[in-house]
Amino acid sequence: MNPIEPKVIRSVRELQAWSDQARCDGRRVALVPTMGALHEGHLSLVRLAREHGDRVVVSIFVNPTQFGVGEDLAKYPHDLTGDLAKLRALGVDVVLAPAADEMYPPGVAPAWVEVEHLTRGLCGRSRPGHFRGVTSVVARLFNAARPHVAIFGQKDYQQLRVISALSRALLFGVEIVAGPTVREPDGLAMSSRNAFLGADARQQALSLNAALREVRRLHREGEREAAYLIEVARGRIEKEELAEIQYIELCDADTLEPLERIEGPAVMALAVFFEGTRLIDNTLLEAE
Ligand code: AMP
Repeated sequence: MNPIEPKVIRSVRELQAWSDQARCDGRRVALVPTMGALHEGHLSLVRLAREHGDRVVVSIFVNPTQFGVGEDLAKYPHDLTGDLAKLRALGVDVVLAPAADEMYPPGVAPAWVEVEHLTRGLCGRSRPGHFRGVTSVVARLFNAARPHVAIFGQKDYQQLRVISALSRALLFGVEIVAGPTVREPDGLAMSSRNAFLGADARQQALSLNAALREVRRLHREGEREAAYLIEVARGRIEKEELAEIQYIELCDADTLEPLERIEGPAVMALAVFFEGTRLIDNTLLEAE
């Protein structure tokens, strides 16, 4: 594909007009929401978007409402120039890079969107208000880009489930497509936050994928007791002196309810701090 310069749009009204025109022309609009500092994980979602739509919009917006007090909003990486260069080769039509006032118009009563049940556990428990921020901005992005389809990463498994529920519950009619987790060659799941890891933490963070692989192997061999599988993962990660486990849980892959015993599709999800940097990862456990 020839490199094309994506059109950078900063105004929601302009994006709505662009999308209306694309829809009138019979085009299928695909949206990839991101917070920028793009890596190969994001770019894989953009490639997937090209397969599912014939017009691709990538949004780059560090959404303040999904960060809690004391979280890393202030130091979250920004690199719009670098991001645009990475998108150039991928055939992206539009990059939405709005100021906060575009997404949260001043002078109007704030409005929030909340998905229940699915947001209670896992990251919802450890980051109160996080998913309310995520769903509130994704609802706005859906109204801004009016996509037919939106692509989200399995890396944020709970987010993916929550957004699927959002689209169906509020009748957005946006098809939600999941992209597999992209990893570094040594297995660490790609994340914009990996840049904060020092050399030791970076090395020790490999324990997350190692633990999940071990759990997958045991599951494949027939182990079904959640408590045992969680203990195996915990034991592997606790070997690393910089690791502070926030949670390791084994849940039903659809409802995200914690399981005692695996009887259908399940997900192991975990969140671990390394020197103040919070990493998440997960694996699906499905019958072979
Ligand atoms: P973020 O910019 O971190 O908010 O992520 C934007 C989108 O990229 C979300 O749908 C994430 O799930 C997805 N994503 C982040 N990291 C990865 C990865 N390593 N592999 C695949 N998708 C990812």
